[in-house]
Amino acid sequence: MLFLDEAPEFASNVLEALRQPLESGHVVVSRAAMTAAFPARFQLVLAANPCPCGLGSSAGDQCRCTPLMRRRYADRLSGPIRDRVDIHRVLTSMSRPELASAMTGARSTSDLAVTVAVARERQARRLDGTPWRLNSEVPGVELRKRWPVRDEGRVLVDQQLRTLKLNARSADRILRLAWTIADLVGHDVPGAGDVETALSLRRGTALGGAMRDLVQTA
Ligand SMILES: [Zn+2]
Repeated sequence: MLFLDEAPEFASNVLEALRQPLESGHVVVSRAAMTAAFPARFQLVLAANPCPCGLGSSAGDQCRCTPLMRRRYADRLSGPIRDRVDIHRVLTSMSRPELASAMTGARSTSDLAVTVAVARERQARRLDGTPWRLNSEVPGVELRKRWPVRDEGRVLVDQQLRTLKLNARSADRILRLAWTIADLVGHDVPGAGDVETALSLRRGTALGGAMRDLVQTA
């Protein structure tokens, strides 16, 4: 896993250099004499503050950043990089009591690890006999052709494409994510609910239903 904290602070050529390996799983290094391709499959986690001073989301309201400063800061993560990040979450600072109540009923990491292992087994079984083992490795065109989601889920993605809320590459990422959600909650084929959850994960909006149940014990 590659974790870039304060991602907008990285030089744009460094961030843009991640596009190729994120897409292909390889990094190609070209020098005068030769070109070499190295395997580069990794999970990318980017963290960013809401504004340059980092205080923009805290309750104290000490931030003096202007809307233009916030915009410029956010724009340092380009559209093509954002497109390649499947899950977007907005984190707000919590008070101690809020944190304590959020932790009540939360499943432990080791407990969730079992669920994740089961989901990975499901993927490996479905992808048996193919070059891939995980949903994230399956090319979009193969995924759409061989493992389509249920019609009502497909309709949701098509609506997003028609209204330009998603581009084609992001749509394939939504379908992959919907499959992973279905694998986690135990659905044989992703339905409308799984696609809706994938879209919520993408938009950074609140999660409902099966996904919330997945991380809570009660
Ligand atoms: Zn600020």
